[in-house]
Amino acid sequence: TEAHLEQMAQHRSLNAYLVETPERALNEARASDERRAKGAAKPLDGIPLGIKDLFCTKGVETTAGSKILEGFVPTYESTVTANLWRDGAVMLGKLNMDEFAMGSSNMTSAYGPVENPWRRPGSNAKLVPGGSSGGSASAVAARMALGATGTDTGGSIRQPAAFCGIVGIKPTYGRCSRWGTIAFASSLDQAGPFARTVKDTAILLRSMSGFDPKDSTSVDMPVPDWAKDCVGNVKGMRIGIPRQYRMDGMPAEIDRVWTQGAQWLRDAGAEIVEIDLPHTKYALPTYYVVAPAECSSNLARYDGVRYGLRAEGASLTELYENSRAEGFGAEVKRRIMIGTYVLSAGYYDAYYLKAQQVRALIARDFTLAFEKCDAILTPTAPSSAFAMGEKMDDPIAMYLNDVFTVPASLAGLPGISVPAGLSDDGLPLGLQILGKPFDESGVFRVAQAIE
Ligand code: GLN
Repeated sequence: TEAHLEQMAQHRSLNAYLVETPERALNEARASDERRAKGAAKPLDGIPLGIKDLFCTKGVETTAGSKILEGFVPTYESTVTANLWRDGAVMLGKLNMDEFAMGSSNMTSAYGPVENPWRRPGSNAKLVPGGSSGGSASAVAARMALGATGTDTGGSIRQPAAFCGIVGIKPTYGRCSRWGTIAFASSLDQAGPFARTVKDTAILLRSMSGFDPKDSTSVDMPVPDWAKDCVGNVKGMRIGIPRQYRMDGMPAEIDRVWTQGAQWLRDAGAEIVEIDLPHTKYALPTYYVVAPAECSSNLARYDGVRYGLRAEGASLTELYENSRAEGFGAEVKRRIMIGTYVLSAGYYDAYYLKAQQVRALIARDFTLAFEKCDAILTPTAPSSAFAMGEKMDDPIAMYLNDVFTVPASLAGLPGISVPAGLSDDGLPLGLQILGKPFDESGVFRVAQAIE
C-alpha cells in the first residue's frame, strides 16, 4: 500500500485519481497485517485497489466524472465495492473516467482527461488511455494500483485494458450486482476488474461477483474459483474466428496480432474454426440507439435538486434547466438528446423497437456460433491508443472504436482483453476472448494461454 501511495504521488500528472484516500488505505492495510499475523487472512487482504468513480463509496465523494455530481458523497456502498472490502482489499482512491461512462478516450471527464502512461518510443505525444474506465487502466498500468474496478457498457473495460497493455474482463451480464453503481445503460452495464495478469483479474472478479437481491438482474449462480482456470490448457477447445470481424480498412498490425494469437492457441492444442456472426455490421448503430435511450431515462434524475450541483434559477423549471445545462458535458447532452428522440412517440417503433429487434438477432448470432466453438477470438479494438484530442470533433469516429466490443455487450456475454503484442510503433495491442454466457472459466482458460 505504501509503495502504491508513493507511486500515486509521483504520477499525479496522469490525472488518473480524482480522490486519493491515503489515511484510510494505511489503516486498512494495518488491519490486514494484523489479521495476517493472527493467521486469519481474508482472500484479498492487503491488496491495494483503485475504484472507478462510477461506484458509490460511502463517505467518499463520487462524481461519475460529471460536474452535476460535484460534492455528492454517498451514504451507502455499492455491492461490488462492499464485496471487495469484505474480502480485505484496501481502497487507494477513486479513479477518473469519461463522464457517466460515455466515451472511449477519457476525454469527456469534467475533471480533465487521463493520460496513458505509454508513449510511442521516441515521441512525447500524450496518448489516451481509452475509456470510459481510463483512470482505472492508466492507474494499473502505471503501478498506481495493483488492480482496479471498471464498468463496461460497450467496451469500457476491454478497450482501455488493450490501450494500456493490461488485462480487463467484463463478466456475463448479471454476474456483478449493479446496485450502487451509477447507471448509464442498465441493460448493458456490468462491473469487472483490471489487473496486470489474467489470474489477478480472476481472483478479483470472484470477490466482486455474486447474487444480490438488491439488483433485479443479478443472477443467482455459484461463483467458481476462476483462478483454477488460469492454467493455459486449451487442448481440444474450439476457438471461433468471426469472418465478419475482418473489416475493410483494418490496419495490418491488428490483423497480424490476431493471426498470431490464433497461431498461439493452435500451437497449444486448440482447434481454430471460422464462424459467422452475420449481424455484426448492425451492432454499432444498435448500441448507439439502445445505450442513449437508456441513458436519457437514467439521467433524468439529475435535476439539480437531489444530488450534487444546483444552479440558480428564478423558477423551479429554470433551476432544472440551468443545473442540467451547467452540470452535463457535451457528450452526455448529445446522448440524452439522441435517447429522448429515439424514445419519443412517433419514432419509438422506427428506432428503439427496431434496435431491440436487431439486438435479439445479434444475440442469436452468438448462440448459433457457439454451437461450433467454445470461445471466440477477436481484436479488442481497431487501433492502438490514439493521441489526446484526436476524434473529439468527430463523434462517429469515436463510436467506431467500439466496433469489436459492442456486439458481446448487446448479447450480455463475458469478454476479456489480454495484451498480445505491440503495434508497429511500439504501443500495446489487445486480443479479446468472448465466451458463452456464464462461461468465464473458458474465457480465462484461453486468455491465460495467450498471456
Ligand atoms: N465507448 C462506449 C460508449 O461511449 C462504451 C462506454 C462504456 O462501455 N461505458 O458508450
